[in-house]
Amino acid sequence: MSKPDKLVVGNWKMNGRRDMAVALSSAVAGQLPSGMEAAVCVPFPFLGLVGEAVAASALALGAQDVSDQEEGAFTGEVSAGMLSEFGCRFVIVGHSERRARQAETSVLVAEKAARARAAGLTPIVCVGETRDERESGQTLSVIEAQLAPVLALGGEAVGSMVIAYEPVWAIGTGLSASVEQAVEVHQAIRAAVAGLIGDRAGDVRILYGGSVKPETAAELFSAPDIDGGLIGGASLKAEDFLAICQAAV
Ligand code: PEP
Repeated sequence: MSKPDKLVVGNWKMNGRRDMAVALSSAVAGQLPSGMEAAVCVPFPFLGLVGEAVAASALALGAQDVSDQEEGAFTGEVSAGMLSEFGCRFVIVGHSERRARQAETSVLVAEKAARARAAGLTPIVCVGETRDERESGQTLSVIEAQLAPVLALGGEAVGSMVIAYEPVWAIGTGLSASVEQAVEVHQAIRAAVAGLIGDRAGDVRILYGGSVKPETAAELFSAPDIDGGLIGGASLKAEDFLAICQAAV
């Protein structure tokens, strides 16, 4: 069975202005290599502009969060249906910055993932341990606990998701996990998914995120069970993001 193409997703976080959003997304869209898949998850106000800029290209559009509710009196929230209408294919759920700042629980993250799927979006479910959790030997149990409510959505749901392993201590710090550290967690995630859907677990893309740079991407992406990357800081420079995309070919 052939493996799915690798996937590289940029997470712009709360960065940029209108001009930058159009220039950056157009530059990436115009030079994207073939033989891999790429997306940019941009701030909500830029979805329309970036959607137009990438419309004729292979660069997919994504958002960084979604409401767990369908519609109604939820001030400040954005529904999966709205994202879908703006042309999003992907949405990040459970990023560690939201788990920490907005106290998002793993149950809420799973509800968001389910809502995203119901609107035809592919959720990118983020999991990852803190430095203290790693140092006290809890990495795999933390990942397992974060994944449990997502796995409880069932095989059909999980088979159509992307999972991103993002060690919290590696995000935005310049400290990437080593290939061995990443592979250990990716293999545990793959095994957990296989427990639900068997061989089809090989089709679920498990991304690594945490200070991926052009210099480190090729080694990470060629390791077993690493199916691409979720890229924060380096997605804000077209040259760097494109070099990471090239490493995924
Ligand atoms: C992220 O925020 O998802 C991320 C991986 O950030 P960075 O690449 O900057 O570590």
